[in-house]
Amino acid sequence: MSESYRLAARTSVHATVVRAGSVRFGGGGFTLVAGPCSIESAEQMDEAAAGVARAGGTMLRGGAYKPRTSPYDFQGLGDDGLPLIAAAGARHGLAVVTEALAESHVALVAAYADMIQIGARNMQNVPLLRAAARTGLPVLLKRGPSATLDEMLYAAEYVLLEGNANVVLCERGIRGFDPHTRNVFDLGGALRLKELSHLPVIVDPSHASGRRSLIEPLTLAAAAAGLDGAIVEMHPHPEEARCDAAQAIDIATFARIVRRVESVNAALAETEPAGCA
Ligand code: PEP
Ligand code: MN
Repeated sequence: MSESYRLAARTSVHATVVRAGSVRFGGGGFTLVAGPCSIESAEQMDEAAAGVARAGGTMLRGGAYKPRTSPYDFQGLGDDGLPLIAAAGARHGLAVVTEALAESHVALVAAYADMIQIGARNMQNVPLLRAAARTGLPVLLKRGPSATLDEMLYAAEYVLLEGNANVVLCERGIRGFDPHTRNVFDLGGALRLKELSHLPVIVDPSHASGRRSLIEPLTLAAAAAGLDGAIVEMHPHPEEARCDAAQAIDIATFARIVRRVESVNAALAETEPAGCA
């Protein structure tokens, strides 16, 4: 089966570097993206962006269109959220990633973001994948909660077939049976994706675990394992988050994650044989 996703498949040691604004995924280093689950207000986004920038993160996240399980939960600010994340990113020198939940959102998201997120629930929404690809913007493709790695790589292939080579794969947890974590963080699967594909692979420990206490160790595990980055939910006032509060970390925790990821990277570099890239 694996030879069928011919554009996404790894055929050599070559690894693709994906650029989103000033940010790079792949090719060494560990890219840290942070921000709230949902865009709530201009003030919240500005505080979050200031925190990400001060901590040393390079990209801001936040959803305008929220794919909620319950229709009674906060659905996001919709179109009105996009200018808020774009302004906060611009003010603090951060690139911006946000989700297009439907094909009808793609044009507006592309007008405001540096990267389009395709959420886990939409991983196999082919018209949405194609529409996102055609914007030419890099695509952050999240793994479906029950998707196999082959299915994920086929989803990436739909984007690549539109002539858009800039896809970042994101492991965000797969459905398990134990409620103590929201999903099962499939670190092995993420590493296997890197063996199967030349595309950068990042992790989302927030949706994978659902618990703020686990975000730091899971991010460090991904960095130590040689993956390409992490996207984490961080809120300036986590207890007030309108969405996914239990997994939101605060700015100080994010700053510590950035520092500790740097230590992990430095330790790994020290053990690299001299002269190797
Ligand atoms: C998100 O990142 O905002 C999100 C909803 O994640 P996922 O699609 O992985 O559930
Ligand atoms: Mn969330």
